Amino acid sequence: MSNLWSRLLKALYPSSPYCPACGRVLFGEKYSICSKCAPYVFADAPAYCKICGCALRGGEVCATCYKNVYSYERGVCMLIYNRYSRPIIHSMKYDNNTDLARRFGALLSIDILRKTDILHKVDVIVPVPLAPLRYQQRGYNQAQCIAEGLAESISKPVEIHALQKTRETADQIGLSKLEREKNLRGSFAVVSDVLKDKNVLLIDDVLTTGSTIQACAKALLDAGCHKVYFAVIASSMH
Ligand SMILES: [Zn+2]
Ligand SMILES: [Zn+2]
Repeated sequence: MSNLWSRLLKALYPSSPYCPACGRVLFGEKYSICSKCAPYVFADAPAYCKICGCALRGGEVCATCYKNVYSYERGVCMLIYNRYSRPIIHSMKYDNNTDLARRFGALLSIDILRKTDILHKVDVIVPVPLAPLRYQQRGYNQAQCIAEGLAESISKPVEIHALQKTRETADQIGLSKLEREKNLRGSFAVVSDVLKDKNVLLIDDVLTTGSTIQACAKALLDAGCHKVYFAVIASSMH
């Protein structure tokens, strides 16, 4: 929450809901995003990459997907990662706002249905896991909350134990795509065979370079999953 006025209102009305995009206290507004922010948060991009689903200014496939081959089939990114959606993601990740993550998970199911036929193909939903220490520190995994919100709205199971992050990796911020891949190599493992021959929908909060999703998808395919799809709340515009 950046501006003083918002912080003051929040201090005056601590139990009132507030807009996670701008911090404005919501008086009697039905939705969790205020009416001023909603059109910007949910604005459609001019186009979406047909492979990773990221927002595009135009064209069919983003530059990253044009140059690389991935283990996943395709992905969906709901929001454009910008100054309106960034505080929402931040709130899900660091403010213990698990309810917000669940509600956006439910919205994500609508966005996936609107853009693709992925939901008809998937058997099970798998959140991108956190390393055990990170999970302990945060107390929850925001990707799991998103996955649960989505699963509830489409009546599909969530599997949270089979895919694990086996070691803590250095912060990915500021690393190049190649450095991220090296950083993540071998950091995800499938520890049971419940996902064998299944079509998996991986869930995460944000897609940046796609290295995390790729590392998970590879681990899942190596462990005998049939196909891997993914969906995230937001990705930057390409
Ligand atoms: Zn707002
Ligand atoms: Zn792409």
